Amino acid sequence: MSQDVNNIKPSYPLFRDDEYKSNLARKLDSFEERHPKEKIDEVFEWTTTEEYQKLNFEREALTVNPAKACQPLGAVLCALGFSKTMPYVHGSQGCVAYFRTYFNRHFKEPVSCVSDSMTEDAAVFGGQKNMFDGLENAKALYKPDMIAVSTTCMAEVIGDDLNAFINNSKKEGHVPQEYPVPFAHTPSFVGSHVTGWDNMFEGIARYFTLNTMEDKVVGSNKKLNLVPGFETYLGNYRVVKRMLADMGVDAQLLSDPSEVLDTPADGQFRMYSGGTTMDEIKDAPNAFDTILLQPWQLEKTKKYVQNTWKHEVPKLNIPMGLEWTDEFLMKVSEITGQPISEELAKERGRLVDMMTDSHTWMHGKRFALYGDADFAMGMTKFLLELGAEPTDVLVNHANKRWKKAMEAILADSPYGQNTTVHTGKDLWHFRSLMFTNKPDFMIGNSYGKFIQRDTVTKGKQFEVPLIRIGFPIFDRHHLHRSTTLGYEGAMQILTTLVNNVLERLDEETRGMGTTDYNYDLIR
Ligand code: SF4
Repeated sequence: MSQDVNNIKPSYPLFRDDEYKSNLARKLDSFEERHPKEKIDEVFEWTTTEEYQKLNFEREALTVNPAKACQPLGAVLCALGFSKTMPYVHGSQGCVAYFRTYFNRHFKEPVSCVSDSMTEDAAVFGGQKNMFDGLENAKALYKPDMIAVSTTCMAEVIGDDLNAFINNSKKEGHVPQEYPVPFAHTPSFVGSHVTGWDNMFEGIARYFTLNTMEDKVVGSNKKLNLVPGFETYLGNYRVVKRMLADMGVDAQLLSDPSEVLDTPADGQFRMYSGGTTMDEIKDAPNAFDTILLQPWQLEKTKKYVQNTWKHEVPKLNIPMGLEWTDEFLMKVSEITGQPISEELAKERGRLVDMMTDSHTWMHGKRFALYGDADFAMGMTKFLLELGAEPTDVLVNHANKRWKKAMEAILADSPYGQNTTVHTGKDLWHFRSLMFTNKPDFMIGNSYGKFIQRDTVTKGKQFEVPLIRIGFPIFDRHHLHRSTTLGYEGAMQILTTLVNNVLERLDEETRGMGTTDYNYDLIR
C-alpha cells in the first residue's frame, strides 16, 4: 500500500498513486458498464450547445439542482434567532438531519433542532402521539423557554393540524398551558426556505401579540423593529445594529441568531446564546415602525405587521449597494427623527471612493448570478452601480411581480440592457446559460463549483469562475461571517469582485514570454 500509519494521505493526492489508478481503472472496466468515453464526450459537448439549452428550457416536469431549500429549514433559522428557543420540526427525522447538516456545514457550528421522528404508523394514523412525546421530551431534556414548531412534507401531506395537536398536548399536560409553543405550517412542496422563515416569523409574532393588542400604542417604546428574513451572513446582523446604534436609534432585530451561530470555543457548550427575547417580541407592536430587510420574502409578515400591529412597513429594498443603503438610512432617519451620523456619511464616502478606484476593472465586466429574490435584486442593483453588466439573473422561487420589478431596474440602467431574468428555473438551466452566454464570472453559492468545473472541462477559454456569495457555502471557510448589507457590505462585495477580476487577469497573463506583457505589478 502506498500509505501507512506514518504517511497517511487524504483521498487527493492518494487516488493519483499508480496502484489506485490501476484499481480504479479495473473497477471501471469490470463493474461500471460505462458508456465509451467518446460517447460521454459527445453527450457532454451536446449539453453545452444552444440546441440543448432550448430543450433544457422546455423542460417542465423535472427540477435539477433547484437553487432553493425546504420551507422548514427556513423556519428553523427563524426560530434559532429567538432567545432560548428550540426549533422543533414535526415530521420525518431525515429531513431534520438534512437541515442540521446544512447549517453545520455552512456555519461550522453545532445547530440545535429536534424532530418528533414520524414514521410509518404516524403517516397512517397522524402524528399527534409523536407531538405529545416530542414536546414533553424536548422541554425536559433541553430546557428551552420556547419551542417553535414547523412541519415537513409528510405531516403536511396527511394534514396534521398543529394548532389542535399543540392545544391537546397542553390539555393533556405534556407541556404546561402557558408554555410558549408558536407554530407554522411549512410544506416544502410550495415556496422555499424563505417562505418557511416568513411563515415561522408570522407564527411567533401571532403567538405573542395577536391577543394582546389592546394596550399597545404605536411608537410608545420609541424603538424601531427590523425583520431580517432568511439571512445567513452574520456580519449583516452586526452591521445593521452598528449603523442604527451610530445614529442613536434604539433598534431591535426580530430574530437574531448571530450569537448562537457564532459561539466562542472557550470550553463551554452553549445550546442557546443571544437572540430576540420574548419581552422584545411582545413589545414589538409598540415600536415606531417595522422595516423588512428582505421585503420580497416577507409577504406574510408584512401583512400581519400592517394589519395587527398597525405599522406602516415602509416600501424599501434590501439595503445592498449604495443607493439602497442611502434609502434605508434616510427612511430610518425619517421614522425616528435621528440624523444620519457623521461616521456613516464618512463610510459612504469611502465606499464611493472605492467604487471610483475600481471602476476601470469593473466597467463592462459580465456577471451571471443566482440566489434568493432579495439577494439577487440587491446584487444586481449593486453590479449596475459599479458599471458591471449582469447577463442572467436566476431565482428559482420568485413571483411575477418580482420579475417585473427586476426588469424595470435593469431597463433603467445602460448596463442592464442585455440582461435576462429567469424565475422558476434551476441550476441545470443556469449551467446551459454559462456555456451559451459565457459571462466573465458567476455569482452564487457553493453548488456553482460544479458548473465551473463543467465549463473548464470544455476548455480553459470557456471557464466561468464562481464567486461565492450566497447560501449555502460549504466549501470555503468563514465567508458566512462577511457582510453584504450597508456600505460596509458593499465594500466587502466590491473587494471580492474586483480582486476576483484581477486574479483572473493575472492567471490569463502569466504566460512567460507570451501574455506576461500585461502581467503587471500595479493594477
Ligand atoms: S422536501 Fe419535504 S420531505 Fe424533502 S427534505 Fe424537504 S421537508 Fe423533507
